[in-house]
Formats: sequence, structure tokens, C-alpha cells
Amino acid sequence: MSRRALIAGNWKMYGLAAALGELDALSAALAQQPVDADVAVCPPATLLAAAAARLKGSPILLGGQDCHTAPEGAHTGDISAVMLADAGARLVIVGHSERRRDHGETDALVRAKAEAALAAGLTPIVCVGETIEERQAGQAEAVVGRQIAGSLPERGEAVVAYEPVWAIGTGLTASTAEIAAMHAFVRGVLGARGARVRILYGGSVKPQNAQEILALEEVDGALVGGASLKAADFSAIIRALK
Ligand code: PEP
Repeated sequence: MSRRALIAGNWKMYGLAAALGELDALSAALAQQPVDADVAVCPPATLLAAAAARLKGSPILLGGQDCHTAPEGAHTGDISAVMLADAGARLVIVGHSERRRDHGETDALVRAKAEAALAAGLTPIVCVGETIEERQAGQAEAVVGRQIAGSLPERGEAVVAYEPVWAIGTGLTASTAEIAAMHAFVRGVLGARGARVRILYGGSVKPQNAQEILALEEVDGALVGGASLKAADFSAIIRALK
């Protein structure tokens, strides 16, 4: 079964209104040279509605970077999946390692968020990945396997992003052998549904390394942080798809 590639940009906590110009540039680049893949940008929630208005008619999908487990409620400062969808999002990242680290998010919480996303009609991108200490201790597969078992909803169209924590925002990338081995492992862990689930790689993907990473057998796309902030870099990564 062939899976449609997905290249998703995670702007993290970067971007004021002026950054919407990068979306215009990306949209223009894709209009000039369309790609046979899903392209998504996850800006800060403050920019979602304006981005959706700007991208009307563009194939670029919008996503949130996190959501609450409830559709609404007394949760000051949180944003629900229903609200993200209402603002124009089609996807949402859940369980990013920065949220697991900064907000103590557990696998069970990440799964509840992913389920809330599905209920709101959003596609969750569920992030997993080991720390450098876990990899050096030979625990990488055990950690990722546990995270998948605990944070991926049992049903529904979810995307998995394998993001080794030590490669995020560090300029270090896992080797192609490490990526290939972990993606094959994740595909195996997913069992029968593995044929349908897209598995993205994330961790310092750049225009310079995108081609070799995206060419790997079980890599269905990328989750891109820093290099998604500039349309020129992000579109070069998108173009690296075969
Ligand atoms: C990310 O934010 O998910 C990420 C992979 O960041 P970077 O590409 O900057 O390493």
C-alpha cells in the first residue's frame, strides 16, 4: 500500500504576524511547482486564523502544536482540538518532546489528546523518540515501543513522528542507518495497521540532508522545526521528495 508523503513544519513558539509572509512565499512556490504530497505548517495558535484566511485555495494544510483533551471547559490558557479545527487546522502535533519535557506530558495524556484531535476531525501527529542517554543505554527501541503503545490511539488516522530527542534543534541528525532501523521497528510495532500509518522522521532535517532521509524505505515524510521557518528552506525540503 502506498502512503501519501507528508512534510509538516513545526514553527514552535516562533512567528509574529509578519511571518505570514513566509506562508505566502511557500504557497507561491507550491503553486509554481506543485508536489504530489501533503504539506502542512503548524504555526503558533495565535496565527492560525489569519494563516487560514491567507491560505484560502492553497493546498497547504494548517496544524496546531498541541491541544487539550476536552472540547471546551475551564482550562485557562489551553486550546481544544475543536477550537483548532474551527480556526482552520486539519492536523495537530501531540506529544512533542518539548511538551513532554516542559509540561510533563505522559503517554496516557498524549493518547487522550490524540483521541480528542480525532474526535474533532483533526489528524494527530503523535511524536515519539528517545533521549541520548536512552540510546546510549541500548534502550531506544524499548522507549519508542513503549511510547507508541501508550500514546497512539487504537483507531483512527494518526501519523507517527519519530524524533530522537537528541536530534531536535541540535543540528545533529540520526544516521540514515539509525533512521531506517527505527522506522522499520516502528512499522513492525504498528502491526496490521502499519501499512496505513505514515511515519515521519524529525530531527534537524535541512535542505542538505532531506533527500537521503526522505528516500529511506519506511520514511513517509518529515516533521521539520527550524528549517520550516523560512519558505526557501522548507520548499527545498519538500522538493527533495522523489
Ligand atoms: C521539531 O520541532 O519537531 C524538530 C524536529 O525540530 P528541528 O527540525 O529544528 O530539529
